[in-house]
Amino acid sequence: MRLSKSFFKTTKTLPAEETSLNAQLLIKAGFVHKTMAGVYAYLPLGLRVLEKIETTVRTRLNRIGAQEVLLNSLHPKQWWAQTGRWDEVDVLFKLKSQTEQEYGLAPTHEEQISPLMSQFITSYKDLPEYNPDTGQFPLAVYQIQTKFRDELRSKAGLMRGREFRMKDLYDFHRTKESQAAYFETMTKTYLQIFEEMGLEAYAVDASGGDFSDKFSREFQVVCAAGEDAIKFSPTTGFASNEEVYAEAVAKLETVPADIQTAKSAEVGNIFDLGDKWTKAFGITYQGEDNQPHHPTMGCHGIGTSRCLGVIAENYNDEAGLKWPVNVAPYRYHLVTHTSSKNQAEAAQILELAARIYAGEVSLNGHDLPTGEILWDDREGVGMGQKLKDADLIGCPYQLILSPRTLADAQLEWKVRGTGETFRVGLPR
Ligand code: ATP
Ligand code: MG
Repeated sequence: MRLSKSFFKTTKTLPAEETSLNAQLLIKAGFVHKTMAGVYAYLPLGLRVLEKIETTVRTRLNRIGAQEVLLNSLHPKQWWAQTGRWDEVDVLFKLKSQTEQEYGLAPTHEEQISPLMSQFITSYKDLPEYNPDTGQFPLAVYQIQTKFRDELRSKAGLMRGREFRMKDLYDFHRTKESQAAYFETMTKTYLQIFEEMGLEAYAVDASGGDFSDKFSREFQVVCAAGEDAIKFSPTTGFASNEEVYAEAVAKLETVPADIQTAKSAEVGNIFDLGDKWTKAFGITYQGEDNQPHHPTMGCHGIGTSRCLGVIAENYNDEAGLKWPVNVAPYRYHLVTHTSSKNQAEAAQILELAARIYAGEVSLNGHDLPTGEILWDDREGVGMGQKLKDADLIGCPYQLILSPRTLADAQLEWKVRGTGETFRVGLPR
């Protein structure tokens, strides 16, 4: 992307009521626009990051046999009435049509996936038993979509939205064994997903840790703006929610010596739902015994926009954002500085930059991937401002090409994460 052709801008002005660090940084750097409390619009850079996060999620889930769909935000009241949740779920947004029909804006999708899957699950053959050894995956369906929740407090920027992005996956099994095994595979997959996006997550069991009805496991990332608290051991990976620490630690043979307590943010959550929804929506399959049965069901969420917020919250300094490489909007931020006083030199700089931008040259032994370069080619913006913007936007590597570096047949390479800079010879 060329900044000279981009409509968005970095800004120093923040909405007065915006107190969340992640939102402040993302607004200043031009990644998002605040629509109202708990609702943010994604501008090109923010959308790139969100898409990278969601691609990571999608790629890993596809590898464990999950099938992607896209469900609806607009739900008929009847689905939610069927489980009694129309009146129970306080964060459910409700609306009326001009003909007085009532609808809900989906905060989650058990109420849609269940009637949908009841159309497709009829026989035990539709419900393969999960077998990690043979690679036989169970029936697992997911989507990545916008969710709506009427949250009372929305002070954590992208970490708690009223409109936000979530990946939700639903799995269906004949046996608890199949479900429990997939649960463990999902735990591993989640930890890989979070690591890939630069988040060190701890899996914590909501209660005791025995897999039985209503069991759940949360994925927590240490984060000062988080609403939860965990006790964890960085060396052993043991972690527990603060409230159930006594219970969790009692199960250990030896208590790690380096237990720390920290505020944390829940980035994912996986549940055993038992047969509550499969019963309510009449999902039945004919078993090998020729009898009708209800499958057992699981639900696995990742808050993709919350992840974006947590990454912004955890990767920054006074100058701005410092994206982990895998989710950075662009890997490289190319900054050119030209002076109108020396036309020939300016032409040379722009010509070199255009070749770098097009991915035609390798630098420092790196082939620069095309489509991964943000080029600040704005005219009439000073070098000081361009470098400030580069720090604020936070791409991992800055490539700075100016008359000064050109004179040495070099460019300056700056690593945003560490502040380290070095010179690299220019291609011919
Ligand atoms: P929390 O405890 O934070 O309210 P939850 O337990 O209600 O979340 P789930 O219904 O399990 O959340 O949703 C799955 C994931 O979606 C959560 O782990 C979180 O990452 C994300 N999430 C939930 N609510 C929000 C929200 N209001 N804004 C952004 N992300 C959210
Ligand atoms: Mg929760």
